[in-house]
Amino acid sequence: MKIAMVSEHANPLAAPGEADAGGQNVHVAELSAALTRAGHDVTVYTRRESREEPPEVRTPQGFRVVHVPAGPPRREPKDHLLPYMGEFGGFLRDRWAGDRPDLVHAHFWVSGLATALAASATGTPVAQTFHALGVVKKRYQGDMDTSPADRIRLERIIGRQAGRVIATCSDEVFELSRLGVPRSRISVIPCGVDLERFTPDGPAARRGAPHRLVAVGRLVPRKGFDIAITALAQLPDTELVIAGGPKRSRLAQDPEARRLRKLAGRLGVGDRVRWPGQVSRKDMPALLRSADAVVCTPWYEPFGLVPLEAMACGIPVVAAAVGGLTDTVVDGVTGLLVRPHQPRELASRVRRLLDDPALGHAYGTAGHDRAVARYSWDRVAADTLRAYHKLVPHPAATAEAR
Ligand code: UDP
Repeated sequence: MKIAMVSEHANPLAAPGEADAGGQNVHVAELSAALTRAGHDVTVYTRRESREEPPEVRTPQGFRVVHVPAGPPRREPKDHLLPYMGEFGGFLRDRWAGDRPDLVHAHFWVSGLATALAASATGTPVAQTFHALGVVKKRYQGDMDTSPADRIRLERIIGRQAGRVIATCSDEVFELSRLGVPRSRISVIPCGVDLERFTPDGPAARRGAPHRLVAVGRLVPRKGFDIAITALAQLPDTELVIAGGPKRSRLAQDPEARRLRKLAGRLGVGDRVRWPGQVSRKDMPALLRSADAVVCTPWYEPFGLVPLEAMACGIPVVAAAVGGLTDTVVDGVTGLLVRPHQPRELASRVRRLLDDPALGHAYGTAGHDRAVARYSWDRVAADTLRAYHKLVPHPAATAEAR
């Protein structure tokens, strides 16, 4: 099948960790690679962010990345991209007019807009993954939400128009239903994890204290790193590594890193928090393996790749019981679920794990088994293809019908 992926801000070639590069970049890269392995022809369309980016790149995994000239050729916050989507959609329409993909899969609502324009002009079926929803963001971020004012209204339209909406967790299904997307058009397909990279065997980074917690993510307030820092005050002999944000050398200029460092200083735990900055994909498994537990304490989480990566490495996860984390982490089996925004509860549950290494080991082993059984990217790609085939009949099915 000839598949177009549209991911306007999240370039699969970008290194994740900074404010607007994270799970979606990894998702688009890994799904495209897995679909290519399954024999499909995949092209990802993403916005050109610098003059140095070539118009088209063939990745080592075999899929193509097209850098679409739409708006200024520099990095822009994703919440500023809406005005360029007419240009982006026009580019797709012209390109597909002569060479139409069998199906287009749009990632994030802004991509959904550009896609709708080109898909309606060329008659291309559309699958949509939102990755995050405006209603949820508004609910949790309130006045801090920098999304364009029309986001929720436009998401409703995009969701109702798409031939198929792919939700990444069961919680998202409820949100989509409330937006008026018919349940019969929603498929639930989780994100996956690279099981060759994230393995229990392999080197582990060196520790600086008897116990170590690791937290990973874009350095944005909603990731709730402040909750882990606050819990650390009740966990002596323990260090906390907070990985993510810009490269280490530029971390001092990052406003969220500064806010968190100040908090750690105020709570008297500054000397026990480590800040490696952005960690490469290559170094991430060793960092995760160095932890007694990986803590994920966001305010909300549309899916959450980090817990899956930790599970694949055989490390127990202590996570806030929100969004996708309630699907991936099984409380009392692969780790622990805690109430969000509760540093005391987090500290006492982590304490239990640190005091009982056998329990942590059991959770880690169960987490690894769960990741292997359910979350390989090849399995995610197979499920995604099944969803695509609801829009584009399988060639074998068409032949049978003849
Ligand atoms: N990540 C990384 N280096 C960093 C910080 C994050 O490789 O310094 C990766 C992390 O391993 C995960 C992704 O970025 O694969 C974050 O995805 P998640 O779903 O946890 O959060 P999102 O960015 O989607 O909010």
